[in-house]
Amino acid sequence: MNEEMIMDKVALGSTGIMINPLIYGTLPLGPLQAGLTPAEGGRLIRHALEQGVTMIDTAELYDTYSHVRAGLEGFRGEAVVVSKTHAADAPTARIHVERALRELGRERIDVFHVHGARIADPFTERADVLAELLRMKEEGKIAHVGISSHYISAFRKAVDHPEIEVVHPLINRTGMGILDGSAAEMGEAIAACARAGKGVYAMKALAGGNLISEARASIRYVLGLEGIHGIAIGMLSTAEIEANLALFRDGTADETVWQKLESRKRRLRIMDKFCKGCGFCVEACASNALSIVDGVARVDEEACILCGYCGAACPEFMIRVV
Ligand code: SF4
Ligand code: SF4
Repeated sequence: MNEEMIMDKVALGSTGIMINPLIYGTLPLGPLQAGLTPAEGGRLIRHALEQGVTMIDTAELYDTYSHVRAGLEGFRGEAVVVSKTHAADAPTARIHVERALRELGRERIDVFHVHGARIADPFTERADVLAELLRMKEEGKIAHVGISSHYISAFRKAVDHPEIEVVHPLINRTGMGILDGSAAEMGEAIAACARAGKGVYAMKALAGGNLISEARASIRYVLGLEGIHGIAIGMLSTAEIEANLALFRDGTADETVWQKLESRKRRLRIMDKFCKGCGFCVEACASNALSIVDGVARVDEEACILCGYCGAACPEFMIRVV
């Protein structure tokens, strides 16, 4: 790694971890979205690592551990791996952490979050899960405990919880997907978390693809917020990885490449011919973007942040972000 890349790194709060602010978001690689094979996803992750990316964001729910493992196989540089558990109870959280250790082939996960998209107060609603993650930190299986949420209230509360060392808030220019206020209010909670010493890296800077036509401006907005140390971005090609690295490093953007990236269209595809109308997807959607109409699931595209979580909840595998 060259000197410029080393200087590009920032401290992830008080964790002692130094990161490239461009974090590889692996959700789009897996079966909820693009459905790349572990080898294909692993090649992209490896390319990013070799170009200077240092942190990889995954989750039990994303089903991308095999992609991450393939990307890390034989890699001799540094890599910070973050995962998340959406467990509602302590035993399940332990199973999730153990699975991450096993499937990622690591002795310790650098950061493990309570994965709480719809959790307004993880300190009461997920108290047992948090306690279990902290126990597993004492056991040496997790280095740092964090929370991810779409709620501002979760981060306002985190400020007074020193045991939470990393936070992963949803933030974008339009505030799309934030469940209890505006982008400005989330920005204040983010700054307060950073001032309290927490590492802060954002999710959904492009609102899951909805802001893709203004990707550069949307990324610059989030990078410019007080307290942001990094942004997790899902990337599906080497060109996209390189374009983001340049943008994050010094704000440069190749017009031709970005015009191509910004002209992509993404949408939620529900194969309604096979939909059973069970409503599990409606329950799973934190953005209230789904409803059952005439016995099948329908999406409100204005409200949908293309997170793909409804796809994970569908027992018929009928939903994909394409
Ligand atoms: S409809 Fe699905 S992809 Fe869209 S916001 Fe809801 S859960 Fe996410
Ligand atoms: S979970 Fe799947 S089968 Fe059930 S309503 Fe939603 S799309 Fe249809």
